[in-house]
Formats: sequence, C-alpha cells, structure tokens
Amino acid sequence: MTAMAAQTNTVTHFIGGKSKPASGGREQDIYNPATGQVIGQLQLASEDDVNEVVAVAKKAAKSWSEVSLTKRTKILFSMREKLAARGDEIAATITTEHGKVLDDAKGEIGRALEAVEFACGIVEQLKGEYSSQIATGVDTFSVREPLGVIAGITPFNFPAMVPMWMAPLAIATGNAFILKPSERDPSASLMLAELWQEAGLPDGVFNVLQGDKLAVDGLLTHPDVDGVSFIGSTPIAKYVHETATAHGKRVQALGGAKNHAVVLPDADIDMAADLLNTAAFGAAGERCMAISVAVAVGEAADVLADKLRERANNVVVAEGTNADADMGPLITPQSKDRVERLIGEAEADGASLVTDGRNLLVKGNEEGFFVGPTVIDHVKTDMSAYKEEIFGPVLVIVRVADLDEAIRVINENPYGNGTSIFTSTGAFARKFQRAIKVGMVGVNIPIPVPVAWHSFGGWNDSLFGDLDVNGSDGVRFSTRKKVVTQRWPEPAHGSDASFSFPTHD
Ligand code: NAD
Repeated sequence: MTAMAAQTNTVTHFIGGKSKPASGGREQDIYNPATGQVIGQLQLASEDDVNEVVAVAKKAAKSWSEVSLTKRTKILFSMREKLAARGDEIAATITTEHGKVLDDAKGEIGRALEAVEFACGIVEQLKGEYSSQIATGVDTFSVREPLGVIAGITPFNFPAMVPMWMAPLAIATGNAFILKPSERDPSASLMLAELWQEAGLPDGVFNVLQGDKLAVDGLLTHPDVDGVSFIGSTPIAKYVHETATAHGKRVQALGGAKNHAVVLPDADIDMAADLLNTAAFGAAGERCMAISVAVAVGEAADVLADKLRERANNVVVAEGTNADADMGPLITPQSKDRVERLIGEAEADGASLVTDGRNLLVKGNEEGFFVGPTVIDHVKTDMSAYKEEIFGPVLVIVRVADLDEAIRVINENPYGNGTSIFTSTGAFARKFQRAIKVGMVGVNIPIPVPVAWHSFGGWNDSLFGDLDVNGSDGVRFSTRKKVVTQRWPEPAHGSDASFSFPTHD
C-alpha cells in the first residue's frame, strides 16, 4: 500500500451499529512499522463522543440483558464462525499495523477464537446454585446478573486477541461492551465490530471508541460505566485501577511483565535454547509473556549463552508479510530508541553483549523500526536492562549459583506475570512451581499462556484487582451475584414473625 493510498484509511468509532466520525477534529497518524510510512489516520474521541457511546451502551445493555441465554449463545456460535472465516483478513491487517509476522498474527486469531468458544458454553457457567429447604418451606438460590456497561481498554500488542479475551464473556453474560483499542493499531477493532454485527448482535451491544488518554479518562470516570477491564503497561494499569475504583467501578487491570526462565544444568539445553530463542524474539519481544530474562544456574550458563548466540544469529528479521520472516519491527521509533538505549546502558554497566541488534538495516525496509535479536550476558539485577520492562527483542542472562538463588531473584522482582523452568528433574520443577510468586508457571514450556477456559492473569505489579481475564474469573468479573431466599406459604400458614434472628428450623 502506498503512503498516498493509505492516507484514505480513516479509522473512526463504531457506535450503535454504525461507523461514526469523531467530533472535535483530533487525529493521529497510523504507521506501518515495517516501512515507517503513515498508512492512515485515527480519529480521537472527544468528551462528547465518550458520553454518546456510554449512553448508547447503557440503553443496549438494558434490552440485551433480557435476551434469552439460548439466543445469546446462537449469536456467539455465529461469531465464532465469522471470526474463523475472516481471521486471515484480520491477521493481515494486524501485520500491517503492528508489524508481527503473518503466522503469528494468525496465531493471535486462533487464541481469540478459543475465547469465543469458551463463551459459547456460557449456559454452563451461569447455572447458579440452589439450596432447597434451607428452613421449613424456604429455598435459597443464587444467580449471576450482568454489571451493565463494561469498558475494555487494550494494548497495541494483541489488537484482536486481547479485546476478545474481554468482549465475548462480557456480552455472553448480558452486558454491553465498549472497546477502547490502542491508538497504534486500531483497524482490527472495527473488523471485530463488523463481525459481531453480522453475527446478529443487536446494535449498541459492542461498540468501539477510538482515542487516547481523554477517552480512557472519560470512561474511567463516567457514572454509567460499571466495569473496566484494562490490559497494558504497569504504570497505566495502576492508574486505571486507582481512578476507576475511586469512581465506584469494578476493575481488573493487567500490567506489564519481566518473565524469567530458569535453566538448570540437568535440562536439555538445546531444547531450552530453541524455546527461549522463540519466546524472547517472537513478535520482536512485544508480548507480555515473552521471556526476557534467562536465569542460568551454575554450569548451564556458558553453554546456554553459546547456544543462544547461534540461534539469535539465525533469526530472520524482515517485514511480517515476508514468508521467511521470524520477527518483524518494533511498534514505533520511540520503542526502537528505548530498546537501543537499554542495550547501550547494559553494555556501559559492564554486561557483555552476546549478540547486538542495534543499527540493524533490513534491506528494502530501511525506514522500518527494526532492532535485531539481542542477547546480553552477565546482567546484574541492579542494571536498568534488568529492572525495566524492555518490551523488545532482548534476552538478558542473569547467572546464579543454584535453584534457591534463582527462586529468590524471581520472587524479588516486582512483576509476576509468567515464569518457567527447564529441567529434567521432577522434584526441582515441583519445588519451583510451589515456591515461585508468579501467576502463570511453565515447566519445560517457555510461554505458559493458559487456554481460554483457565483464566489469564499475573501477580504483584502485573495485575491490579482480584480477578483474571477469561475463564471462570472472566465470568465472575462480568457479573454480580444475587442470592434469593424465598418461601411460598400455604394460605393458612399464619405468621411466624419474630424479633430474634431466625434459626432456620
Ligand atoms: P499502554 O499502557 O501504553 O497502553 C494501553 C492502553 O492504555 C491503550 O489503549 C492506551 O491508549 C491507554 N493509555 C496509554 N497511556 C495512557 C494514559 N496516560 N492514561 C490513560 N490511558 C492510557 O500499553 P501498550 O504500550 O499499548 O502495551 C504494551 C504493554 O502492555 C506492556 O507493558 C505489556 O507487558 C502490557 N501487556 C500486558 C498484558 C497482560 O496480560 N498482562 C498483555 C498484553 C500487554
């Protein structure tokens, strides 16, 4: 696509079943990060737009919550088919705006499908609980009812999967949903909106509000938004959690990460190196579950560093549309600058560069935001390359003496999203799995993202709030429980009113 042609790609809101231009006239460029070209314009929400979308969603939530579970489920099944049919088209759009390689973008669609499939079984999740005859002639039961309007605020790195971790369950449980996607790759959100509409979802139940901080702040403080589901970086997650809870909303806010993989000397080091190479450099390291720290134990360190060098040197860095590409560019020039700065600081701090991805030029894509795979050895935990979430293709090696020290290092890190261990000894793996203070743990699996019917969420600074996304936590987040205690006395029953607390005989 040429820059000229792409200028015609204007990304708007989707409100009440229609694409809707933003009011207020604010716009922002959309880039293809592999070419560095501007490929479209994103219209940014004004306060009026926030008010409009919330009013539409509030009205839709009221009628949608009355729609039967069987009818809702039919729409979800239809959405599943539509997403499967148009998944490749959405993946291609993601590759253009995000930069990840096409196969990886298709994998993201696969994970989005899984989330819809889980929501297709919502009837099972909403069965509730029933206790018959808790006292003579009295029954108690609980049901889960929708919150009303749920806003989902999502990051750039999974423009289809993360919104679909939120919307299907919110909708299946009877809420209306407002998606505020990332400004960096917003087009997938509109494709999802179209699919929901084609699947038969009533207008106003799924809406898209394009925008920046103004849109987010508007949603966090609006009295008619009942729940906020956020995924993004830790400082913003914390801000979103504090602001929205202060405004009386239910909030789940998933943040950033620094994911460690421990490699013990008894591991299959070739397998560990293969898996760490893909887990660190896939999607150019722009995954919240990317492995960014290899914790090499004892004699595993030298051999692991050598094997990582070999593999990193063989990673093919190219535009994501290139069938040979293993990884594409970073999302913005600012990301590239930040990643290159942190590599430089590690070197200045005394770490050694096993491979150095700075100053990489990709032939034909000289203006793209590329950084090559970078492995840095002898990194200490007080260096900025260890302390900061780099969110780029950089794998640092921290050397430790034994498993206890590895566990201590990980548990002292403020994040707690994912972690993994490579070993051939079950007892070591079990000790690690029990001692580690991290939400998602892999054993000889580098990226332990749970399937959709288990919930996804980290610990510590990787999650603010009590409930994960997806799975049964996602259902609980989207609903509130109502417990009913009832009796239907016979006409001649008489009254047993009492000033004492009932004893349930
Ligand atoms: P980000 O925090 O910059 O943006 C996320 C969302 O917040 C976007 O929609 C953005 O518009 C909005 N936002 C940004 N700045 C804001 C501000 N000052 N006030 C209000 N809203 C604001 O994150 P990103 O760069 O888009 O995504 C990458 C980050 O997301 C990484 O830290 C990554 O680890 C994290 N992430 C976490 C998970 C997880 O499940 N824990 C998953 C994916 C990404």
